[in-house]
Amino acid sequence: MTSPTPISRRKAIVVQKYGGSSLADAAALKGVAKGIAQRVKEGTQLVVVVSAMGGSTDALIALAAQISEHPKRRELDMLLSTGERVTMALLSMAIADCGVEAISFTGSQCGIITNDRHADARIIDVRPVRVEDELERGRVVIVAGFQGMSYKREITTLGRGGSDTTALALAAALHADSCEIYSDVEGVFSADPRLVNEAHLLDTMSYGSLESLARNGAKVLHADAVAWARRAGIQFSARKTGSSAKGTLVSAAKHSGVQAVTSSDKRLWIAASALTQSPIQALVWASHEGVLVNSENLHEETYGEACSTLSIVGEGLLDNAGLSEAFIDLCAPVLGWWSSDYGLHVRLTADRDLKALTRRVHAALIEP
Ligand code: ASP
Ligand code: MG
Repeated sequence: MTSPTPISRRKAIVVQKYGGSSLADAAALKGVAKGIAQRVKEGTQLVVVVSAMGGSTDALIALAAQISEHPKRRELDMLLSTGERVTMALLSMAIADCGVEAISFTGSQCGIITNDRHADARIIDVRPVRVEDELERGRVVIVAGFQGMSYKREITTLGRGGSDTTALALAAALHADSCEIYSDVEGVFSADPRLVNEAHLLDTMSYGSLESLARNGAKVLHADAVAWARRAGIQFSARKTGSSAKGTLVSAAKHSGVQAVTSSDKRLWIAASALTQSPIQALVWASHEGVLVNSENLHEETYGEACSTLSIVGEGLLDNAGLSEAFIDLCAPVLGWWSSDYGLHVRLTADRDLKALTRRVHAALIEP
């Protein structure tokens, strides 16, 4: 059976996301509003996800710390979710002043449903009925990133950097034509450019490699955001606000070879012998030796050994004879190593100089 031909093609839907540094003050915000109004006038339906104004999430966290040593994560979510609400309202006002109708929504108003893990919630469903209605009316929809509502109707936040995930989960739910993630950097680099002067901008990257890069310490994009894009097959670009450069295009297209290097010093190694007393003993089956967790994401106190990891990402790395050996040699002494679909990883003692090591690995294994 052949499917019917659609009678009319709707206007392209594009989801944009602006990071906090692109919205740091009134002038920056007005500049972004102008660009959005122009794009809408050219005939694109836009949904714009915003972060909190530069530095304001940190300021709210510092404020909470002055009030309480152990604030409840639920109350932190109530507090931190306000940062993005400030930006969404201001941007909506600024866009209206450019002569384009706009409306702002919180995450819960957009139908972003999460689990109930406060401060580090996962999106489990997106029902953007109100967003679709407003797009139909010809409005730009401005969305407060980084937040949703749990199935218990509680406000939740998605973890630091979570606005990226709002953007790509919404893009998936809206069947958007594309998504553009704007920040103050040109795109994804072969290493953190603050650590490695020679790091270069990657024109293209696959979902899998970028997700692996993000999960293993790179601050460039939220890993869950990439997972949403991968599952929905939405291609997106990471690019610099106000620049005409294309940035990094992320899609399903594969590239063989090592693309980038990253590291993380926020890891905890829990040996198998300690797992039985640990709240995460459910993970015992995962390994005979032990498990490695991201200490940033832990809710309960967990006892383990602080360690670091260093990773190289790309496709088909195990097919490259000698690569894993070369990588392990460069990082020696290593506590252990493993491979994943999109990376090779080593576990290191916490005292290692990750900056020097990242430079060494970049120089030896990444083609200029
Ligand atoms: N404002 C939040 C943060 O600073 C979320 C985000 O910017 O994506 O982490
Ligand atoms: Mg970010």
